[in-house]
Amino acid sequence: MSIKTVNPNTNKTVKSFEEMSEKVIDAKVAKAQGAFTEWKESSYQQRADLLHKVATLMRTKKSVLAKTITLEMGKVITQAEGEIDLSANIFDYYADHGEAFLADKVLDPEYGSAIIRNSPIGVLLGVMPWNFPFYQMARFAAPNIMVGNTILLKHASIVPQCAAAIEELFEEAAAPKGLYTNLFISGKRTSALVSDKRIKGVSLTGSEEAGASVAAEAGKHLKKVVLELGGNDVFIILEDADMDKTVEWAVVGRMNNNGQCCVASKRFIAVEAIADEFIQKFKEALSKMKVGDPMDPATELGPLSSEEAAVHLADQVKRSVDQGAKVLLGGKRADREGAFMEPTILTNLKPGIAAYREELFGPVATFYVVKDEQAAIDLANDSDFGLGGSVFTQDIERGKRVANQIDTGMVFINHPTWTQADLPFGGTKNSGFGRELSELGIKEFVNKKLIRVS
Ligand code: NDP
Repeated sequence: MSIKTVNPNTNKTVKSFEEMSEKVIDAKVAKAQGAFTEWKESSYQQRADLLHKVATLMRTKKSVLAKTITLEMGKVITQAEGEIDLSANIFDYYADHGEAFLADKVLDPEYGSAIIRNSPIGVLLGVMPWNFPFYQMARFAAPNIMVGNTILLKHASIVPQCAAAIEELFEEAAAPKGLYTNLFISGKRTSALVSDKRIKGVSLTGSEEAGASVAAEAGKHLKKVVLELGGNDVFIILEDADMDKTVEWAVVGRMNNNGQCCVASKRFIAVEAIADEFIQKFKEALSKMKVGDPMDPATELGPLSSEEAAVHLADQVKRSVDQGAKVLLGGKRADREGAFMEPTILTNLKPGIAAYREELFGPVATFYVVKDEQAAIDLANDSDFGLGGSVFTQDIERGKRVANQIDTGMVFINHPTWTQADLPFGGTKNSGFGRELSELGIKEFVNKKLIRVS
């Protein structure tokens, strides 16, 4: 059985789940379609009430939900609780602002009068990853439920208890049957589901391979897709950065979620003048991190999401070292059971070395020293990805100038790339297309219908 909970702290299997048969999936899609015909007629008030109820339930059950996240994918418990708060905030945000975002837009045409009305489009399929099991769902489901669409959610196969718990939240909130449906189906079978005529759009967060597979199928069947794929965000340190604060953010930027964020700071680029000071302080901070059981609130760095992920990351580090990279810190699997990797810093990286171009999804930082600001920008843009990035400087105008030249969907000044309900999230290049969150995120799966009166 491919759908199961394996505790990455011990690598022991906790519980397995049956995949759903074609017949069961077909019945669930039909139910979602049936729910759409009613939900699209509901009022914004009804939709907002439901979203608020789900948010309240999340907060009430925060402790147990957070433990489920930690059990299944190893996020340290304090951060898992933070994820539940963030997800509840997203539900509240769309409940509070969705109606205004979706209000008719009055046009001023040359002839007659006209409006643009944002109408729902139908059943949507979400394909979501394990790294933020609640937040990834929230940023897709909450805005679309507010729009009047209905949701089928195929979650990553390693977080089935989170997937089931989310569906239960909707049941407890008395959502109409079929409004939100969990599908226990493997990634391999998911692309085929995209061709189902009843499904009108797909949103996927995950790897480039999965994104390309789903987008190809959607393209073949002329369906709208939003893709949020990997990233290789830079963290640029200019000579006028506030060094102590910068180092604190560098640790958070790289190590949050045990290093497994699409928008984690992955490539640290320091200008010559302050590079030695930065790397010495950064290395010291990483070497002091408390690695251990993610259920222990004192733990700062837990395991990767699975043994497979840890093996893959260790292999990327080994290949890089074989190709000429130097290890400044760590470099190996941690000496304990579970899917752990030591906090690691690699340097001496050039094109042709694995860690120069590949995304490192775990606690491994790459470090570069460059002559000046322009060289930092050039290096930042030498990436197939274009998700986020950050620049550290006390001169905000300078920070904005640098931000303007970085070819990504998001740039943060004096903060690692981050997320909150009211900021748009998404990338360029191989990081995908479309936007989630904020007003932009609620308008991805709507029919912007023109109504013109003569
Ligand atoms: P995947 O892309 O394989 O998984 C993400 C989701 O896509 C899961 O629900 C998965 O299902 C599903 N999926 C996988 N293959 C297909 C497919 N062919 N068609 C449709 N759906 C599919 O990510 P991994 O967990 O394997 O992680 C691999 C790498 O992806 C990471 O190292 C990282 O680089 C990147 N990644 C990026 C994330 C982000 O936030 N942008 C999040 C997670 C991973 P199933 O679990 O059943 O395979």
